[in-house]
Amino acid sequence: MDNCLFCKIVEGSIPSTVVAETGRVLAFEDINPAAPTHVLIVPKEHVADSAADLTPERGDLIAEIIGVAQGIARDRGLDDGWRLVTNVGPGAGQTVFHLHFHLMGGWNRTSGL
Ligand code: AMP
Ligand code: ZN
Repeated sequence: MDNCLFCKIVEGSIPSTVVAETGRVLAFEDINPAAPTHVLIVPKEHVADSAADLTPERGDLIAEIIGVAQGIARDRGLDDGWRLVTNVGPGAGQTVFHLHFHLMGGWNRTSGL
């Protein structure tokens, strides 16, 4: 999609630090990390602006994204726990309108949210 930051990262015209990749999914370091591990996991294809636009036929893709998150968590030794978050809409803080999941971990959190 034209003028989409994450589409440009996927196609390589904007640089990123790639952490993991599958046929349909790319994971790269968040440029402004909010946790010791903060990786963004995106579908390579611009299938949705956010989770609000997802439909059940994307189930396999979402499972693939969760599998990538599990692999990164294992590689990074996030045995104590990790979060997988997706923001929907500006009111939730979404700034890039290409579906993405924030994988965060590496802190010792004592509260849920
Ligand atoms: P969200 O606020 O949920 O839309 O998340 C967008 C995320 O993209 C933020 O955490 C930003 O720090 C991150 N971000 C913005 N530009 C880049 C970039 N060029 N490379 C990597 N991450 C980025
Ligand atoms: Zn996009």
